Amino acid sequence: MPAPDRYAVIGHPIAHSRSPQIQALFAHQTQQNMIYDAIDVAAEKLAAQVADFFASGGRGLNVTVPHKEAVIACCASVSARVRIAGAANTIVRAPTGELTADNTDGAGLVRDLTHNLRIVVQARRVLLLGAGGAARGVLAPLLELMPRELVIANRNAERAHALASAFTALGTVRGSGFAQLAGTHFDLIVNATAASLQGEAPPLPPGVLGAGTVCYDLFYAGDATRFTHWALEHGAAQAHMGLGMLVEQAAESFYLWRGVRPDTAPVLAALAAQPSH
Ligand code: NDP
Repeated sequence: MPAPDRYAVIGHPIAHSRSPQIQALFAHQTQQNMIYDAIDVAAEKLAAQVADFFASGGRGLNVTVPHKEAVIACCASVSARVRIAGAANTIVRAPTGELTADNTDGAGLVRDLTHNLRIVVQARRVLLLGAGGAARGVLAPLLELMPRELVIANRNAERAHALASAFTALGTVRGSGFAQLAGTHFDLIVNATAASLQGEAPPLPPGVLGAGTVCYDLFYAGDATRFTHWALEHGAAQAHMGLGMLVEQAAESFYLWRGVRPDTAPVLAALAAQPSH
């Protein structure tokens, strides 16, 4: 058998990453001869380590915090998704050796929402919390689902306004601070802030949740995040964490590299059954 094709995820820190386990399950399921490692890469070594990885035969990379923006400069070309999101999470090496940066995060979220969770976004009122890299990455794919309105709310409201104005051509979208949301009700609330990382929930005013509201936290941890806990306590119909998005964005990267679409359901079930997720 030929030597396995090499892939990896790079980030800093990286030890916590579940990507190696997910990609190994996909490879086993679809019988692909590949290995996938996690490599800790410090910011000042990013360009050199990406070049080394591919020079030594590497076939593809996933990229996570804090390199999602900086890694774009390491690639000869970028996909439309990266041009819009301003961030990349996947590098694909063409047979010619040319590197292309792509971003599968938004596709992963949309697939989890619409396919796994069967949530309807079209004609609904959507609230996106946060205006950082993750929010920017999921914005265009969410707008493609044609919500009635999408409001971006951020602690620093200026950033929300700026992000919204960059996307007005793609749908009905506006920026806001958290306090100004009082009394406005939403059907879907997506938390793309880093608040959950700090064990906090964004300071949402009363009234944003109605009886049918679905909440989704891009972050995932144990049984609940502060945000999903807050959501259920305040009457949300459903509250989900981003494990499904993680598995779906991984599947999209796997497809870009291997041309084979893995079945994500058993992989998601295996990860969800692990006590530490
Ligand atoms: P950034 O650092 O780029 O952005 C951080 C955002 O969070 C900013 O909008 C910031 O607001 C806001 N924020 C930070 N702390 C708080 C707080 N305590 N209360 C309210 N708002 C806060 O981070 P990313 O966009 O890269 O990541 C955001 C989250 O998305 C992370 O939790 C990450 O794990 C998750 N993620 C999950 C993925 C998945 O596959 N499930 C994929 C990608 C990301 P301000 O501008 O005011 O500072």
